[in-house]
Amino acid sequence: MNLGEAPVLAHSLSSADQALVDGVLAGQRRALAKSITLIESTRPDHQQRAQQVLNTLLPHTGKAIRIGISGVPGAGKSTFIEALGVWLIEQGKKLAVLAVDPSSSVSGGSILGDKTRMELLSQREEAFIRPSPSAGSLGGVAEKSREAMLLCEAAGYDVIIIETVGVGQSETTVAGMVDMFCLLQLPNAGDDLQAIKKGIVEIADMVIINKADIDRQATAVVRAQWRNALHMLRPASPNWAPPVITLSALHKEGIADFWEQVEKYQSALKPTGEFDAKRQHQALSWMWQLIDSGLRQYFRHHPRVQDNLPALTRSVENGHTTPAAAAYALLDYLKH
Ligand code: GDP
Repeated sequence: MNLGEAPVLAHSLSSADQALVDGVLAGQRRALAKSITLIESTRPDHQQRAQQVLNTLLPHTGKAIRIGISGVPGAGKSTFIEALGVWLIEQGKKLAVLAVDPSSSVSGGSILGDKTRMELLSQREEAFIRPSPSAGSLGGVAEKSREAMLLCEAAGYDVIIIETVGVGQSETTVAGMVDMFCLLQLPNAGDDLQAIKKGIVEIADMVIINKADIDRQATAVVRAQWRNALHMLRPASPNWAPPVITLSALHKEGIADFWEQVEKYQSALKPTGEFDAKRQHQALSWMWQLIDSGLRQYFRHHPRVQDNLPALTRSVENGHTTPAAAAYALLDYLKH
């Protein structure tokens, strides 16, 4: 895409797209799935239509609680999300589960894309489960998931779960698009140190230690370690100390405790304005990420940059031009 092809917001929707919008607003899963497919398409005409559909639906978004759940493969994410989902449906809620899995573009196979996951939940009318977009960089995958999240909100889902694996930057990326980011951990001593090293303790709003049924004593020790680790950090908000809870997703124990924390989190941060401020900050930083990547693409596709880039690249490699001089010369081509 270059800037000339960037989505331009037209005033009216085609009748087919209006039908899509109406279907999403009526909570029709087929219309929702079709709109997500539209936003995942890389065709410029699809992109343009997708942005129009999204903009039309924007006033109907924002009402759900957005929860991120991260954990290594085998931590029990799908078991937990399924148990939570069934429990939430019993409470009269509708939930959507989306995945951000950049590993699919690296390995060619998706960790979170397996269709057999969450079989029970996927049969429920009140649940909508969508695997990760299968192509693209982490930024690209995350952008599609953010937009899919908005579509799910417009379709009336009360709870949006964004699931991710602890691969590279995916945890930070998901933390940047949800209200509450939760780490799902195994009762392994020392995992807190790994998380500290990776810098993800700082972004956790809650730590969940799963598989407590396997060894209750070890679970209690690991819980204490996590509490200490979190205690050493300055919390992101003076009004929220990230809790450490234990559960057994397999035996459906601790699900209500988890939800109680989600509700406490909202009642702590909504009255102070922090909840909305976080969303505003996330929306602006998303805008800037898109500007940055759009500018980069525009730069790379600019004819004069393309003409001069090979020679200047060689010149920097050979030490004949400084990186700064080459960069400024190339940027200068954008002005003409
Ligand atoms: P994911 O890769 O993070 O989605 O993990 P899964 O949900 O697929 O779980 C991996 C394995 O751990 C499965 O065999 C589950 O049955 C098992 N498992 C998940 N939660 C629990 C739990 O609370 N207790 C026990 N004992 N096993 C669990």
